[in-house]
Amino acid sequence: MAKRPMLKFVNVERDMPEKRAADQRNRDFHEIYAEYAAEKAAEQSSRCSQCGVPYCQSHCPLHNNIPDWLMLTAEGRLEEAYEVSQATNNFPEICGRICPQDRLCEGNCVIEQAGHGTVTIGSIEKYVTDTAWANGWVKPVQPLQERPESVGIIGAGPAGLAAAEQLRQIGYQVHVYDRYDRIGGLLIYGIPNFKLEKEVVERRAKLLRDSKVQFHLNTDIGAAVPFAELREWHDALLIATGVYKARAIQAPGVGLGNIVPALDYLIASNRNGLGDSVPAFENGSLDAAGKRVVVIGGGDTAMDCVRTAVRQGATSVKCLYRRNRQNMPGSQREVANAEEEGVEFVWLSAPLAFLGDPEDRVSGVRAAHVHLGVPDATGRQTPQVKEDEAYTVEADLVIKALGFDPEDLPTLFGEPALPVTRWGTVKVSYPNLMTNLDGVFAAGDIVRGASLVVWGIRDGRDAAAGIHKYIQNRASSRPSHAVAAE
Ligand SMILES: Cc1cc2nc3c(=O)[nH]c(=O)nc-3n(C[C@H](O)[C@H](O)[C@H](O)COP(=O)(O)OP(=O)(O)OC[C@H]3O[C@@H](n4cnc5c(N)ncnc54)[C@H](O)[C@@H]3O)c2cc1C
Ligand code: SF4
Repeated sequence: MAKRPMLKFVNVERDMPEKRAADQRNRDFHEIYAEYAAEKAAEQSSRCSQCGVPYCQSHCPLHNNIPDWLMLTAEGRLEEAYEVSQATNNFPEICGRICPQDRLCEGNCVIEQAGHGTVTIGSIEKYVTDTAWANGWVKPVQPLQERPESVGIIGAGPAGLAAAEQLRQIGYQVHVYDRYDRIGGLLIYGIPNFKLEKEVVERRAKLLRDSKVQFHLNTDIGAAVPFAELREWHDALLIATGVYKARAIQAPGVGLGNIVPALDYLIASNRNGLGDSVPAFENGSLDAAGKRVVVIGGGDTAMDCVRTAVRQGATSVKCLYRRNRQNMPGSQREVANAEEEGVEFVWLSAPLAFLGDPEDRVSGVRAAHVHLGVPDATGRQTPQVKEDEAYTVEADLVIKALGFDPEDLPTLFGEPALPVTRWGTVKVSYPNLMTNLDGVFAAGDIVRGASLVVWGIRDGRDAAAGIHKYIQNRASSRPSHAVAAE
């Protein structure tokens, strides 16, 4: 009889001391972090003075009942805290992570106003909802009754998803169309993983699928499916397409290699993190590793670019912004974070031209100092470029982060009657968010211009309420046409 081969068991304890140590560190980190988060949430929530004038609540776009869920958290009643918090917010763990709380709830906390430091509302919101997920308290929607009417939603970003969940709660058949291959809009492809972990978005997407929201991904409305056809298929439509036209820089040399739009750069980084093959990242053109990076712009997108570049291993990261720190649109907290990570801000600077190397790749930015002049009609000081005070910043990668405008939706959708403002945002009436096309509603950035996730959620909820009223009020209901989901 053949001798049985000796099975060699790997004993992690004995044979793999590095792995054992790493596992232990991981366990320690998660245990310590969980303990620390619980302690912090209890400590911070008990700091709320229940002041009776909840400015935090009135400055939260969702009017979250913050004092009540803080009190419940302080008393250790976390499931009830979660119930109160999710009653007004579809994605509390996302807002807890990425709302600019310094401008919203926390900035208006009376304790902060009194100079004692805000209650950390966002972190507690995140903690309570993460705890709810861990304990299985977050459940798919189960409407009391199914309704025959269907609603089509164009855009699977926060506005579209919040509307989808609200409409499913009432029992509508909800179909969400998106040109991307994943659910989440800017939550998945815009905002970097270090601010919002992709698993957090993906588990929400799964919950919505489990709630029987039908997703049609890789479906570009206008190009793949005519808008008019979609109107025929559904009893009501919601446009929640966001804003994606990157603002351009007009300067000589702007067409050189390695000058890239912010969203291309961030999408490549996010896709790479999600495990996709991204040739432009792999060949180095959208990877900041080993490069001197210059980001142009001063909003939150610019902050995400500089902080992503630091994480990718850039040799230096500079942010050129034409106004000063006090006048930048991005969150001050984000600027502080970026500075702490080694980003250099070059305030009051505007690009004049881009310099190239012999291979037509960017090698530097010729920039000029800027003087802030008299305030314009909006009250903001007008930047005046001092071309005689020019200097060069060396660069191997330049990222343009000057903000976004809406795409030309009436043309893309072949629907000239779709009403838009002079900025291209879709015009709606309030409070129901319906356009002047019968049964067509709009929500989120495509109505407000580039805004915030929390405002997208608010609009999505308001639009869902408007759609429900519209369908209920319709004299005669059109037959609904169910369409096969992917
Ligand atoms: C880099 C970056 C960082 C940001 N960071 C923050 C932050 O930290 N905190 C914060 O609150 N906000 C942040 N924002 C803003 C926030 O992401 C947006 O305000 C929010 O995502 C808007 O939601 P929305 O649903 O209106 O649009 P989006 O999230 O843009 O979603 C729109 C969806 O519509 C789809 N779509 C568009 N056109 C079509 C079409 N024709 N057919 C089918 N589908 C279509 C798109 O593919 C997309 O999935 C950031 C934005 C950017 C760009
Ligand atoms: S949703 Fe945003 S603004 Fe509202 S309480 Fe949460 S973190 Fe604050």
